[in-house]
Amino acid sequence: NNVESIAVVPTILRRGAAWYASFGRPNNTGVKLFAMSGHVNTPCVIEESMSISMKELIEKHGGGVRGGWKNLKAVIPGGASCPILPAKFCEDAIMDYDGMRELKSSFGTACMIVMDQSTDVIKAVWRLSKFFKHESCGQCTPCREGTGWMMRVMERLVRGEAEIEEIDMLLSVTKQVEGHTICALGDAAAWPIQGLIRHYREEIEDRIKARKSGRMGAMAAE
Ligand code: SF4
Repeated sequence: NNVESIAVVPTILRRGAAWYASFGRPNNTGVKLFAMSGHVNTPCVIEESMSISMKELIEKHGGGVRGGWKNLKAVIPGGASCPILPAKFCEDAIMDYDGMRELKSSFGTACMIVMDQSTDVIKAVWRLSKFFKHESCGQCTPCREGTGWMMRVMERLVRGEAEIEEIDMLLSVTKQVEGHTICALGDAAAWPIQGLIRHYREEIEDRIKARKSGRMGAMAAE
């Protein structure tokens, strides 16, 4: 992000601050390098005006969601740490700092991961947990112990091998990691899980119930 900010300075000097500030909404002005990966037809990095809608970005530059907009399941709006947003929020989402904050997510790097209906969101967030556990330097206890703890619970949630009560237990562990570490990696590890539980609690519970009732034979075999 810093390199991106510095790279735009010559243009701002040439064309003026007012010109630059004419892009985007108040408090969110300027242009931004947006990226789209995952289930879009044409993954890309594109410079666009701040405050553009998520749907316009995906349709205009990403070639649309694989299988069409209705096939969208969720978007991680700004890099691995940003809480996941289900499709119903993506329809009117404004891609800027305030827009993402209002949806309890985060603008982050504006590098979106687009996921269609075929995505196992629990598994996707588990993968992020594995990444953050791997990246933890181990200096502070909440992060060193918490990232491993969270990853291991996520691992079981993917398979449905957990008790329903563990969902709230996991959420409370994320709160104990968040804000209690030296650097932002602790927060970054906590937020994706908080987003998953906020929006997909039912899906997590269904999987646990399916496992218990033996309905999950096919899924478990994967
Ligand atoms: S929060 Fe940062 S400093 Fe602390 S253990 Fe995690 S990676 Fe290391």
